[in-house]
Parts: sequence; structure tokens; C-alpha cells
Amino acid sequence: MIIVLKPDATKKQIDHVLERIKELGLKPMVSKGTERTIIGVIGPEDALRSQPLEVIPGVEKVMPVLKPYRLVSREFKPEATIVDVKGVKVGGKKLVVMAGPCSVEGKDMLMETAKAVKKAGASFLRGGAFKPRSSPYSFQGLKEEGLKYLRDASDAVGLPVVTELLDVRDLKLVEKYSDVLQIGARNMQNFELLKEVGQSPKAILLKRGLSATITEFFLAAEYILAQGNFNVILCERGIRTFEDQTRFTLDLNAIPVIKKLTHLPVIVDPSHGTGSWDYVTPMAKAGIAAGADGLMIEVHPKPEVALSDGPQSLLPKTFVSMMKEVRRVALAVDRTL
Ligand code: PEP
Ligand code: MN
Repeated sequence: MIIVLKPDATKKQIDHVLERIKELGLKPMVSKGTERTIIGVIGPEDALRSQPLEVIPGVEKVMPVLKPYRLVSREFKPEATIVDVKGVKVGGKKLVVMAGPCSVEGKDMLMETAKAVKKAGASFLRGGAFKPRSSPYSFQGLKEEGLKYLRDASDAVGLPVVTELLDVRDLKLVEKYSDVLQIGARNMQNFELLKEVGQSPKAILLKRGLSATITEFFLAAEYILAQGNFNVILCERGIRTFEDQTRFTLDLNAIPVIKKLTHLPVIVDPSHGTGSWDYVTPMAKAGIAAGADGLMIEVHPKPEVALSDGPQSLLPKTFVSMMKEVRRVALAVDRTL
């Protein structure tokens, strides 16, 4: 249920509606827009059905929510959400680019990459210290040592850090060293992890599951918002299809769908979406043309010896040319980079 208040509803009237919802054993979530306030109701709604909420002063209309998600929806919050990470705004006119190696492999390679991506115009440094690998024998990440290198490199160049959190038990540790917590594709439906990061003060980058529908993706984000954390950035990173020329199929349809149905910012990851460095630039451009708010790009100084995802990593010099090409597309769709 979504309760839309009148544009001139007073604070007293709004508080009264919130009280009524709480009395019924439900949880109200408030969205204050520039025009009006909207209240989303969380919990079993049966209690509400017999309540004539429309007659409460200040209430304009009460709308049943037919979709399974609500807080992520445009009905609940018509204005686009801008996630602000240390002054870097995700979801505004200016695009963001999160760039760096798949895995943090060492201090020097990370510092070298951080300097290169910063110089080329990236807005975040990415890198995994906890790696979700298909094989238990593959490199699993440097863990806390890697987090320290990330913090040092990002402080040195002045970029916020985005890094993956795999396990609820590492939440406090990853929060200590990072600015954005990444929930990877394989954990998109780890509901206990989603509930925990929903209580984190950090922004969350939520990647779409390899086989998740767009609705399941929205519901995963809903878990985070329902805990009170509205600083969520979605990431389309490719899904499994029958196609085997590319590692995944980057689902660009998801971009306009996400923009239409939710208020959350969305970025595109053409590195994982294609699995090949030479397809990254064209699909980065396509993602921005489709309306994405930014990109996630893997960059490695020596892709041929990378411990993970070398084939899809750009050399720093290729990243520079990708940025130039993307900038031209950005201007064409009235964005900046
Ligand atoms: C990554 O960003 O390196 C990663 C593991 O991504 P995904 O969860 O999309 O596979
Ligand atoms: Mn990777």
C-alpha cells in the first residue's frame, strides 16, 4: 500500500498518518519529494484493508501496490535517487566510472592502476579483496591485506573505494576500509546478507544475479531499502543465455526498464557482461546510450598475468581511449563524464 499525501499536508497530519500505520502493527517508510510526501507501508497489509485511510486529513489517495516490490518503485519515489559517496554523485547528469582490477593482487599493481584510472577520469577505484571464485582452488583474494592496499591507493589518488563483501561475518571489516559495499552477482539473493547491508551506513552496489529476472533484482534491492538503506546503486553485469560467444549476455533492455520502474541509479558492467576486453568499449558506449548512470570497468596493468578476469581487463592505455569514446556518447545523450 502506498499513501500519497496532499501537497499542502502539514507535519501534524503526516505524523498522525504515521501513528495510525504503526498502531496497526505496520512499518511506514517516508519518501519526501519536492512536490509531496509519499508513505510506503511495510508488513502484512490485511490490517489496512478495512481502514478508511482516505478520510484522514492530509491524505490524497491510498494506492494498492500490485507489484511485489514497493520502496524501489517510482510510485513510492517519483524523483530519481542520487547516491552521494563522499561528494561523488551517482545518478545525476554526470556519469560515474568505477575502475580497477578484478582482484587486488598486490600493493604496487593496485597503486599503478589507481593512478592510471584516476588520470583517465574514473570516479571510483574498484578491486576485490574477497573473491567469489567458481573453483575453490582459484585465487580467493588477499582479504584484509587487500583492503588495506585499496584504502591506501584510493586515499593517495583521491577516489572512493568500491569492494565486494561476500560474507556477513566480514561486514565490519569491509566497512572499515571501503566507501561502497559491492554485493556480487552470486550473492544477489543472499537475503541475510542483504538485510545486514540494509543496516549499514555505506552505499551498496548491488549486481544482478547471473540468472535473476529484473523483478528478482528489484526484490533483492527492496530487501536493502526495507532495512532503511536507500543508498543503493544497481548494476547490470550480464545474464546467462544460450549464447556462448561471450561470457554472459549484457542485458541492455534492463537499463530502460530499471529507469522506468525504479528511482535507483544503475550502472553497466561490460567487463563481466562480455568477458572479452575488445568488446568492452562498444558495450560501454551502448550502456551509456541506453541511459545508464555509469560504468564498472576492469583495468589491469598486465592482463596476461592477472589472477582473475585477465581476458576481460583493459590495459590502462585502452581504458584512456575507452573513456574518450564514452565521453562522446555521453554528450550525445545529454550527460557529462
Ligand atoms: C567482480 O566485480 O569482480 C565480480 C565478481 O562481479 P560479478 O559478481 O558481477 O560476477
Ligand atoms: Mn571480475
